[in-house]
Amino acid sequence: MTLKEYQKKRRFGITPEPAGKSAPAKKQSSPRLYVIQKHRATSLHYDFRLEWNGTLLSWAVPKGPSLDPSVKRLAMQVEDHPVEYASFEGTIPEGEYGGGTVMVWDQGTWTPEQDDVAAALQRGDFKFSLQGKKLQGSWVLVRTRGYGSRADKSWLLIKHRDAYASTKDIAAEEPRSIVSKRLLAEIAQEGGGDVEKAATGDPMSQPPASKRSKVAAAAPKKPPKKPRKRSS
Ligand code: MN
Repeated sequence: MTLKEYQKKRRFGITPEPAGKSAPAKKQSSPRLYVIQKHRATSLHYDFRLEWNGTLLSWAVPKGPSLDPSVKRLAMQVEDHPVEYASFEGTIPEGEYGGGTVMVWDQGTWTPEQDDVAAALQRGDFKFSLQGKKLQGSWVLVRTRGYGSRADKSWLLIKHRDAYASTKDIAAEEPRSIVSKRLLAEIAQEGGGDVEKAATGDPMSQPPASKRSKVAAAAPKKPPKKPRKRSS
């Protein structure tokens, strides 16, 4: 696993995203991070990330996860991200790679359901369970036939049948950040986590929703921005 592709795509003096260092691989016994980031860039998608060997394996899921086992959701594998990325919520400047707004939509830990994760990934049949706030239970990522140069990057994310399977439209019914409880539009307006940090000095203890809009209103206004030129 390497962060070279991740780092090459980004200008860290400009984007607030973490530059990242590859962390040493964790022991098998320690819990591994799971996160989904809702990301409005050129188009809205959900970035599904699983910590593995010191980085976050990452897939972009255009329609987001479905709790319905009969629904297969396209998941395009993208470059590995640094582990620190799991807590990133805020705004990537216009014109930068992935320019737009990022929300921590769900987070928790994951557990492999196969002994040899590397082999499962290689084979394209990767089973795991999630211990998140919104998503739980057993899931699978299955590599599918893609097109052109990204043929081997195309997967399907599918919920297995278990007690957590449901026909509930989780993406529509639970649209808020699991960390700040904000909607994407509110994050876009408030310009990321800086407002909360400045207000409380502690990103973990955030003001209630009623106070937050006043905090945002009191924050200095940024100069008007140029027209959007975004890429994902
Ligand atoms: Mn993304």
